[in-house]
Amino acid sequence: MSGAPRIATAGTRQLDAKIPSGPMPEKWDRYRFGAKLVNPANRRKFTVIIVGTGLAGGAAAATLGEAGYNILSFCIQDSPRRAHSIAAQGGINAAKNYRNDGDSITRLFYDTVKGGDYRAREANVHRLAEVSVRIIDQCVAQGVPFAREYGGLLDNRSFGGAQVSRTFYARGQTGQQLLLGAYQAMMRQVGTGTVKLFPRYEMLDLVVADGRARGIIARNLISGTVERFEADAVLLATGGYGNAYFLSTNAVNSNATAIWRAYKRGALFANPCFTQIHPTCIPVSGDHQSKLTLMSESLRNDGRVWVPKRAGDKRPPAQIPEDERDYFLERRYPAFGNLVPRDVASRASKAVCDEGRGAGETGLSVYLDFADSIGRLGEHVIRERYGNLFQMYEKITDENPYKAPMRIYPAMHYTMGGLWVDYNLMSTIPGLFVLGEANFSDHGANRLGASALMQGLADGYFVAPSTLPNYLASTPLSKVSTDHDAFREAEHTVQAKLDRLVAVKGRKTPREIHRTLGRLLWDKVGMGRTDAGLKEALGEIPGLREEFWANVSVPSAGAEMSQVLEYAGRVADYLELGELIALDALERRESCGGHFREEYQTPDNEALRDDEHFAHAAAWEYAGEGRLPIRNAEALTFEYVKPSQRSYK
Ligand SMILES: Cc1cc2nc3c(=O)[nH]c(=O)nc-3n(C[C@H](O)[C@H](O)[C@H](O)COP(=O)(O)OP(=O)(O)OC[C@H]3O[C@@H](n4cnc5c(N)ncnc54)[C@H](O)[C@@H]3O)c2cc1C
Repeated sequence: MSGAPRIATAGTRQLDAKIPSGPMPEKWDRYRFGAKLVNPANRRKFTVIIVGTGLAGGAAAATLGEAGYNILSFCIQDSPRRAHSIAAQGGINAAKNYRNDGDSITRLFYDTVKGGDYRAREANVHRLAEVSVRIIDQCVAQGVPFAREYGGLLDNRSFGGAQVSRTFYARGQTGQQLLLGAYQAMMRQVGTGTVKLFPRYEMLDLVVADGRARGIIARNLISGTVERFEADAVLLATGGYGNAYFLSTNAVNSNATAIWRAYKRGALFANPCFTQIHPTCIPVSGDHQSKLTLMSESLRNDGRVWVPKRAGDKRPPAQIPEDERDYFLERRYPAFGNLVPRDVASRASKAVCDEGRGAGETGLSVYLDFADSIGRLGEHVIRERYGNLFQMYEKITDENPYKAPMRIYPAMHYTMGGLWVDYNLMSTIPGLFVLGEANFSDHGANRLGASALMQGLADGYFVAPSTLPNYLASTPLSKVSTDHDAFREAEHTVQAKLDRLVAVKGRKTPREIHRTLGRLLWDKVGMGRTDAGLKEALGEIPGLREEFWANVSVPSAGAEMSQVLEYAGRVADYLELGELIALDALERRESCGGHFREEYQTPDNEALRDDEHFAHAAAWEYAGEGRLPIRNAEALTFEYVKPSQRSYK
């Protein structure tokens, strides 16, 4: 890392990822054999808080509850079933090789490390690929209705960054079906008494007592009361922070508060600038929108992406003859064609729009055209594969995608960054585990499609249920009650922040300020980032934050149900996190995956990594209010997948 000029203080923390020894394919087995166990009769003596009931948290609660631990499960929604995971559309990867097209655990491992532009930890990724095959068995046993072929075998399709078909799916509703599987398994444990649900609760702080995570402070969102909960360990499975950008494909309730407040209690935050912009979303249509809608990547199996060859060509698509169309992904990347990874496809779409060749009124969209597939396969096949997505598109745009090509444009979608975790999924706070999208672990600088569901379920069904007992069995945990000073202090901090929000009594809604922040992040910390733009963002965010605390309007008494108060707290956190995203992006003077610094590109405009200085995860440490955070680094070594210039040509 020497040679890279710094603006943030370089930390000296030794980040031990605790990667087991031995050859890569044996590490996970070796780990599990060496891990300490908790006797079945002793498990009920341990209380574990799990915040989040999406695929990661729901799967963990079901599995740990089944094992006999005493689980307290929290979520914001009125039902665990309404976690954001329910929105996932296209599918889940697994190295089953049902298609016999050359897939294997090694190939999934390789594709994922390469897809992440060599910024993920090899050992975690290999484990993910190994566990992937068991996830499908688990879900089938639960009755998840994956699509099947005529002969009855599970069907597969392809997602970006892979030349095999390894994606299992349930039409365009895979997340919903998987979540129902996890939910019913969790509800069975609610029935047996091992899992206790706390819906409509928002975790607002982590309690660290005697150096360990021992509980949370959560607000009852119905009554407004702030409550204390103690445990022997805390698992955060609270999802990603894409909503910092205001417009994103995430559910409106997705937020960063739990991980951000854990960061302020000492958990390091890794690679916050690794954010994913998804190439195929319904374009922004005006200022009235509060969210964007994804059109699943699976559509690129059968849809062809194109724009007119001539800049400024505003003819309707049907009037543009074949030889005047530019199928730019197929042209630039003949080997992967329309199924290049998301970062590559998003940048390519932006580039043709920047050249003035974008479609639609605004020129900020490209066509996703199914005419060829409909001609070849028949409309009924396309309807069977993507019916609900086509319907959703038509409802939102009032255009029939069976008759005219869809118009799509990149949008904020997923966050690869998150709380730093070691191989155990434990953060830098002992006893605090982080699962699913909330951690940074497996996707490096770019996540391949259909790999988030795989990771969330791997973490929840298989990884945490092996690593958490190791922690509980090997750690002497003193008795801590909610009277402990740490609980009192954390509750006081939470209450003071809520009171402060209510007391401002300003004139701007949290939404207005959030929208301004989102625009700033999208423009300056979005698809293309520059030194000057990032410095501008860093110059503007503190002023916006000041404006928020001087002029936000929260019409609430605090101790009552108030969605504006909930939202204002989350925006306050985005205003701090947004700054860290920009700082991380400024400090990472290279391009990799979704982090594209315009100064660092290859002659044909692809991301240009700097492995000499940046082959590491940047893990940011909170240094106190008003002080620059400290940038620590976990060096990444690649023994099995040697870094090279990513090519999908
Ligand atoms: C539209 C869309 C489609 C997608 N399609 C796919 C796909 O086809 N394949 C794929 O692999 N990935 C897909 N993804 C990504 C994937 O859906 C997510 O990464 C994944 O579902 C995240 O799961 P999770 O369990 O980590 O978190 P989430 O599902 O986001 O769950 C978070 C949970 O935490 C709770 N929570 C959050 N904060 C708090 C708090 N402070 N207090 C209490 N509770 C809290 C929430 O209530 C919720 O229960 C898609 C994403 C989007 C946006």
